[in-house]
Amino acid sequence: MPTLRLFNTLGRQLQDFVPLVPGKVGFYGCGPTVYDYAHLGNMRPYVLHDILVRSLRYLGYEVTHVMNITDVGHLSGDSDLGEDKMLKRAEERGKSVYEIAEFYTAAFFRDTERLGVARPSVVCKATEHVADMIALIKRIEAKGYTYSAGGNLYFDVTKFPSYGELALLKLDELKAGARVEVDPNKRNPADFALWFTKSKFGNQAMVWDSPWGRGYPGWHIECSAMSMRYLGEQFDIHAGGVDHIPIHHTNEIAQSEAATGKKWVNYWVHNEFLNFGKLKMAKSSGEFLTLQSLVDKGYDPLDYRYFLLGAHYRSQLAFSWESLDSARSARRSLLDRVLALAEKGHAAPIASIGPAARARLESFVAAMAEDLATPRALAELWGALRDPELPAPEALALALEMDGILGLGLAGARRAEAAAVDPELAAWIEGLVAERAAAKKAKDFARADAIRAELAAKGVVLADGAGGTAWKLA
Ligand code: AMP
Ligand code: ZN
Repeated sequence: MPTLRLFNTLGRQLQDFVPLVPGKVGFYGCGPTVYDYAHLGNMRPYVLHDILVRSLRYLGYEVTHVMNITDVGHLSGDSDLGEDKMLKRAEERGKSVYEIAEFYTAAFFRDTERLGVARPSVVCKATEHVADMIALIKRIEAKGYTYSAGGNLYFDVTKFPSYGELALLKLDELKAGARVEVDPNKRNPADFALWFTKSKFGNQAMVWDSPWGRGYPGWHIECSAMSMRYLGEQFDIHAGGVDHIPIHHTNEIAQSEAATGKKWVNYWVHNEFLNFGKLKMAKSSGEFLTLQSLVDKGYDPLDYRYFLLGAHYRSQLAFSWESLDSARSARRSLLDRVLALAEKGHAAPIASIGPAARARLESFVAAMAEDLATPRALAELWGALRDPELPAPEALALALEMDGILGLGLAGARRAEAAAVDPELAAWIEGLVAERAAAKKAKDFARADAIRAELAAKGVVLADGAGGTAWKLA
């Protein structure tokens, strides 16, 4: 197996991946803030995390993948400004924060599941880990990195000399106050809250007792506390969107390393943004597209996954209906090719494929191992399916093997083929469909409707189109 190379934001270079413990990987990906539906842009990191985890496992690593659910502490500005996103939404809807969190967490997992994203090994909610956060803040405080002001406890970034290394920030430039709005409590503009005791909100459901008074945690501390709880004080990979580099991840590193005195995370992986027109697609910028809105328009969620994989994760990607349509037709022809191969027989056992097929598989794995180069990997998949020299069972075996990482539902297509409709049933359906067409032509709509109902009762769904009526089994 090739060595995985990852572009590490920390240091901005491609590096060979070397885990802390041979054969094992601790991976933390920042999860959603569950105050609204995830938009299409939000889904980009989770598909990337899934691809990363699948690739690592393919390469033989045992991966512990941890994802948090932010259900408290994320203010509308990443730098401690504005209102708590969760509380604001709860107040608007007249619901409890927990109801809002539960509703949107379920919606989030419905979407990720439809996108073929495997559940992380651990999913942890911020509200269930406040004790861990308090314990971590105590350690940071004991080491002298904090100060209290205006009822809140802050992290003093000037006490942490390498502050801003991840984002290539320079502290003296930050002091000019250009980056963040000035909170009068802060000694330095980049300082950030570890604990708020002066709640701006009336809702008492979201406060906890702490050594600094009754209040609630800052957003950044949740990721430090929960990742350490499940992965230890040092772990291998941390991921999130590029917007997290200058504040959220920069602050996570400062407070974690202040607490432990050790390097916290070795590799930082950040996905670029999905753009919608010229705008960054953001929950706050009004209308945004959800996965469900694509499904409502007739797309398969995996068409969107194909669209995402068509770009490297470190490139910005522009959303357009035209590109989504191309992704859909590309994925459909993939499925058609896989079905056509499956008609010719079973897939060859992957261990027994010949040298030509093996070379193709190796190029595919090499593409994935080179910083998850999904566009190249897709090209390798296409190459395998188009290669006239490959015996059908080997081409099929390759497609299924590659799809184990890409997750485009190709194995599902094969299963659908295996469960092909019994020819006798098909003949009966075709007969009724033809009879219905004749009834419609003769304007006997009662008979036409009765036939549709009879078919529906047997689980047959009809779709009338310009070229006639298509049917499928529901
Ligand atoms: P949130 O639920 O708002 O905390 O965001 C969840 C994840 O989506 C974070 O990792 C963000 O960095 C990422 N994200 C937000 N907007 C976009 C976008 N337009 N394109 C790609 N990733 C995004
Ligand atoms: Zn985070």
